[in-house]
Amino acid sequence: MPPMSTSQLSEAKQTVTEPMRDTEGDRPLIWIDGAMLPRSQAKISVFDHGLLYGDGCFEGIRAYGGRIFKCRSHIDRLYRSADKIRLEIPYSKDEIDRVMRECLKANDIKDGYIRLVVTRGVGTLGLHPFRCPRPGVICIADSISLYPPEMYETGMPIIVAKRPRIPVDCLDPRIKSLNYLNNILAKIEAIDAGVLEALMLNKQGEVCECTGDNVFAVKNGAIATPDSESGLLEGITRRFVIDLCKKLGLPIEERILRLEDVTGADEVFLTGTAAEIIAVKSIDGNPVGDGKGEGPITRRLREGFREVLAQGAPED
Ligand code: PMP
Repeated sequence: MPPMSTSQLSEAKQTVTEPMRDTEGDRPLIWIDGAMLPRSQAKISVFDHGLLYGDGCFEGIRAYGGRIFKCRSHIDRLYRSADKIRLEIPYSKDEIDRVMRECLKANDIKDGYIRLVVTRGVGTLGLHPFRCPRPGVICIADSISLYPPEMYETGMPIIVAKRPRIPVDCLDPRIKSLNYLNNILAKIEAIDAGVLEALMLNKQGEVCECTGDNVFAVKNGAIATPDSESGLLEGITRRFVIDLCKKLGLPIEERILRLEDVTGADEVFLTGTAAEIIAVKSIDGNPVGDGKGEGPITRRLREGFREVLAQGAPED
């Protein structure tokens, strides 16, 4: 792919549509370690190991119509991530559930995005994680808009990152940790190429996931997504979509995907809490399928997702 001009690059950087907020306003109110604080006062210590070392874990969660989508699954994943890094969350799952609802209520948010963060907490400048006496817990409820709305019709262009996903035996990608540099460096590859997402392969060259989304490929009506052995984050939207396929009678398989399975697919789509379900239009500049935007199966699943939400977002 030819290098981008400076103006193309700045345009690509601006395509990210997350709202810009002033940093000193009062909203949203943010919950930190038991206190609901105005945004301007919601600060943590520079000695927090979440900041110093990316030592901690988090969840991104959506609320629809005042209900928290897959609330239990997100809380369970947060505790699983914490457990895998020997971090003990100083609240029960029910308390965390209550905190999220409190944050939505305090900010009068019915449709929005919740960021739950657990850090190792305040410690010394050394790496030693057990010299941080108490983990820090943060809950932010706000809005999010990851990709431009029209991309849900047209599909989004992506690239294949040159950088592989971190191998499972180095850092288990099922841990949703505060250290996202592997993904961020791949995201920079995407932005440098003028797109917003990059497909990441594992060290064996198999398809793994994107920097912040899971990936699905459709060929002759059959849907496939990389299995968890490929070294991906086990996305909650991914699991929901797999179940939705089964409910709709669409054939779905979790298996090893080679790059050709994705580049040669009729349809490719991505799933994630923030992204929801979004079609891929091209990979490295080559059209996916007919390249004419969202394909019929992706559309069916996106509609199916909306239908489920219209009946009340499942909180399990
Ligand atoms: N993979 C990665 C690396 C992610 O960061 C995310 C977003 N959390 C996903 C996949 C999608 O996961 P989920 O559907 O749980 O948001």
